[in-house]
Amino acid sequence: MGECVQVDVAIVGGGQSALAVGYFLRRTQRSFVLLDDQPRPGGAWLHGWNSLRLFSPSTWSSLPGWMMPRAADGYPMRDEVIDYLTRYEQRYGLPVKRPCEVNAVTVHEDGLKVRAGGSCWQARAVVSATGTWRKPYVPAYPGAELFEGLQLHSADYREPQALAGKRVLIVGAGNSAAQILAELSSWADCTWVTQEAPRFLPDDVDGHVLFERATARWKAQQAGEPVDELPGGFGDIVMVPPVREARERGVLQQAVRPFVRFTRSGVVWPDGRESAVDAVIWCTGFRPALDHLRSLGVIEDDGRVAVEGTRSLRQPRLWLVGYGDWTGSASATLIGVMRSARSTAAEVDAYLQGLPG
Ligand code: FAD
Repeated sequence: MGECVQVDVAIVGGGQSALAVGYFLRRTQRSFVLLDDQPRPGGAWLHGWNSLRLFSPSTWSSLPGWMMPRAADGYPMRDEVIDYLTRYEQRYGLPVKRPCEVNAVTVHEDGLKVRAGGSCWQARAVVSATGTWRKPYVPAYPGAELFEGLQLHSADYREPQALAGKRVLIVGAGNSAAQILAELSSWADCTWVTQEAPRFLPDDVDGHVLFERATARWKAQQAGEPVDELPGGFGDIVMVPPVREARERGVLQQAVRPFVRFTRSGVVWPDGRESAVDAVIWCTGFRPALDHLRSLGVIEDDGRVAVEGTRSLRQPRLWLVGYGDWTGSASATLIGVMRSARSTAAEVDAYLQGLPG
């Protein structure tokens, strides 16, 4: 391993959260670098399916400093988000090294050593912004190892053609499941499997309204006031145009409760009936991608890091941004990450200010 590059702040990740932290750090005098394992900008958006749409309109899907250009029908598609993030990096000259996969972060002398293959950075503070897409979650079902059909997670679904004419189970009750069902139901024989009846937001409630509600809850919590639980959270289904169209076709009203086990060629339902199935698409979410932090001994039994705001309680030189509500209300969204990115950059700057030398 060659000499480590000295830097004030190493940001692990190069998606929307890392860019937002970089935007605020560039206003300080600190040296910083973003280390991203992807070959090009876009973060998780590079791994969304072709027809993926945001559940928030463009203007409510912007990172700090620059409004996302308005999308044709208001809700940006995956490629428009990738284009925006690519131009955002260039616009602010953010120092991103890619592809650069960070394998380990360890305590070293008066800082943290960040290793990526044969390279290393000696950082005085580290911000982890590695998101979740690399950690797809699939629930355990009896007999899954017997099933001879196709199983893929929503993170690996791209387009419907490959499943045309097949019998497909779509498992999960969030926006991924609803958007994939809306698309695939015109190509294949789909069965929607959800733990409980799916929750659809009213047609006029989208990500922007959810963000405003999340902000109102956050402000009430900050002020110690009672939080009036308005219906709707980011897990509820936003009626973007393709999902509304599927509702008109009667596709959304048929979700069934889970099967009890797999067989070689399908599944068995609670009443004993068997169904032949060709493929299962797991739209069952993700877990935080934190393997690079294992070497720091900060990961708790629940797979998260104990934080105060976004700062690790066990390692004072470590901050985490963009992992969802446990690192800040609505922090796993483009518009929502701004608040925690700004506070993290300010905290890191103040911390470094207080260090000797
Ligand atoms: P990511 O985008 O995952 O970026 C993290 C980057 O770090 C990635 O490039 C990753 O490969 C890299 N990385 C991971 N580990 C390492 C490592 N060890 N070393 C180096 N690099 C590493 N959000 C919205 O705001 N609005 C929406 O409408 C919306 N709709 C969505 C719809 C769907 C179906 C899905 C799945 C998500 C949606 N999201 C939406 C959420 C959004 O896509 C993610 O929350 C967002 O990408 C998280 O950004 P991030 O920068 O934190 O993580």
